[in-house]
Amino acid sequence: MFTVIKPMRGPKFKNEVARYPGGENIKRCFACGTCTLSCPVSEAESNYSPRRVIHKILLGLKDEVLSSDEIWYCMTCYRCQVRCPQDVKYPEIMRVLRQMALEQGYVKSEFVDAMKEIEKVTQDIRRKILKRFIEKRESITEKDIREIISLSDKIQP
Ligand code: SF4
Ligand code: SF4
Repeated sequence: MFTVIKPMRGPKFKNEVARYPGGENIKRCFACGTCTLSCPVSEAESNYSPRRVIHKILLGLKDEVLSSDEIWYCMTCYRCQVRCPQDVKYPEIMRVLRQMALEQGYVKSEFVDAMKEIEKVTQDIRRKILKRFIEKRESITEKDIREIISLSDKIQP
């Protein structure tokens, strides 16, 4: 049987998030920033900060959070979760926020489907690049490293 969770705004937003499985520990966050420092997405995209997303939830900025780009950036690598001193489960919270964004009409189901496909495609690209360079592991050169670094420049934002 599914639990029906009533949408909440303002300061109650954090309580709504906390009632979903995975969101329980959100109110424990003390804004240390370890999550952001651990995050490979933050490293590549300086405007992305898990610490700031949690802070906005705690402030009750529901519309801003559920309509933001940020909740779609996490690639669920769990680095932040294993390092969080307060056991805040950030990737689980992103899953909760995405579900809420869909259920409460902030995004369409086609958008969520597109995000899922992007996850699959990017994992496939990663697998292909890894395979190519693992195969030549004994002969990797500085030139190969420069080639890897330049790969992202070939995809226009
Ligand atoms: S690491 Fe944990 S406690 Fe620290 S800011 Fe991130 S969520 Fe909050
Ligand atoms: S789980 Fe998401 S937010 Fe956490 S470190 Fe990985 S990509 Fe960053």
